[in-house]
Amino acid sequence: MKTIVLGAGIIGISTAWHLRERGHEVTVIDRQPDAALETSFANAAQISVSYCEPWANRQAPWKALKWMFDKEAPLLWRPHLDAQQWRWCLQFLAQCNDAAFERNVAQIVALGAYSHQAHKALVQQLGIDYHRLERGIAHFYTDQQSFEDAAQAVEVMRRYGVQRRVVSREELFQIEPAFQAYGAHITGGTYTRSDESGDAREFTQQLARHCAAQGVEFLYGQAVQRLHKDGNAIKSVAVRAVSESASGQKEQILQADAVVVACGSYSAPLLRSVGVDVPIYPGKGYSATFPILRPEAAPVVSAIDDGKKIAMSRLGNFLRVAGTIELNGWGMDLDSPLGRARCHMLSRRIETILPGVCDTRTPEEGGNPQYWMGLRPATPTNIPFIGQTRVAGLWLNAGHGTLGWTHGAGSGKALAELISGERPAMAFDFLGEGRQRQYRPVAAA
Ligand SMILES: Cc1cc2nc3c(=O)[nH]c(=O)nc-3n(C[C@H](O)[C@H](O)[C@H](O)COP(=O)(O)OP(=O)(O)OC[C@H]3O[C@@H](n4cnc5c(N)ncnc54)[C@H](O)[C@@H]3O)c2cc1C
Repeated sequence: MKTIVLGAGIIGISTAWHLRERGHEVTVIDRQPDAALETSFANAAQISVSYCEPWANRQAPWKALKWMFDKEAPLLWRPHLDAQQWRWCLQFLAQCNDAAFERNVAQIVALGAYSHQAHKALVQQLGIDYHRLERGIAHFYTDQQSFEDAAQAVEVMRRYGVQRRVVSREELFQIEPAFQAYGAHITGGTYTRSDESGDAREFTQQLARHCAAQGVEFLYGQAVQRLHKDGNAIKSVAVRAVSESASGQKEQILQADAVVVACGSYSAPLLRSVGVDVPIYPGKGYSATFPILRPEAAPVVSAIDDGKKIAMSRLGNFLRVAGTIELNGWGMDLDSPLGRARCHMLSRRIETILPGVCDTRTPEEGGNPQYWMGLRPATPTNIPFIGQTRVAGLWLNAGHGTLGWTHGAGSGKALAELISGERPAMAFDFLGEGRQRQYRPVAAA
């Protein structure tokens, strides 16, 4: 069976690998010159099966309103004249209650556990080297109320089989002594030994090389313009080269038995060209990668600082720090005042928590941090869309939001299984099954 996978992020590459393993003839198309150059490029590096709380919870709407004018807020909502943004926000609001929270956690944990197994199997099979650290993930709190609230979240997680536990300050410092420097401000933490961390870009690019070695064809530098259908079945994909030298080049029309859309946030506008409507909206986030100056004092346990909701992971001689969510459209200007403010916040925060451990100087101060921004493909529930759309032969693997790296291996495997007529071994509402009601036809653009 000939299958085209659109998008070479962690989700598309993992899908391509598992399809090839099942004997499909696979072509991957991406507008970039290599895999993992968009949202999978410089994320927080956490494989966090246990730190998977959906953004939508009882307190989220009030926090979003309170933070609307704070440039450094963990969750920043900037309203636009964009029907897709407002519709997404209303659907998000509908998820901000305890019943929905728990329902969503159950799905996310099921996918997380399945994905972790798939991830470990891939690493063992292929020996991919990506600064992997199997030291767990710790979450530390800086006020008593948040620490007490965390105990409730831990209870919910444990009900679904996640081995996350509450730890005292002292135990936290035994797990990761690096945080002792900030000890006076830390009220306590939670910890999951089974979580891990590693560089998503390295992993994805190496997996792409393994795909190529197994015969997967890659068409890089090709932007997908639109999809075509014939009746209610996918017919073809229109692509055009992005390079300037090829600007005069015409569109190419490519055909296959099946097409998988794995274009992250851009999946939603693309699908609208064939009348499929899914609520995926960009949740912008930022990261900074700092050179480590004092390796002995830098953390090896990946961590989340609850005060600013930022995550940090050791990647060899660098510390990757990432976080914040901005519902603020599609703009990708790191040098905007808002982009600068959010990146500088990451520098300042790490200097406060781990003084003198990294070179956190901003470029204006003579430093050389690698600042970056990416668009998380966010859904109102935090649950990705994996499965068959209502257009025959058109499949979707997108909407992984904050957890695409964590869920990458399993999402790719599950979709490849579904396309091949197998049943993935997890309790999950796949698109086209339980989640059929959550998307409706729209007039093709
Ligand atoms: C700041 C930040 C921190 C994060 N931290 C973590 C973390 O610690 N753990 C975790 O699990 N997840 C994390 N995530 C989330 C994770 O990075 C994403 O969920 C994941 O990368 C999404 O992968 P994807 O393959 O769906 O999208 P992408 O990686 O964006 O891949 C989509 C691909 O589609 C291509 N594409 C799009 N449109 C077109 C088109 N029209 N034509 C051709 N090609 C196209 C793009 O070039 C791109 O290569 C983080 C995200 C951010 C922003």
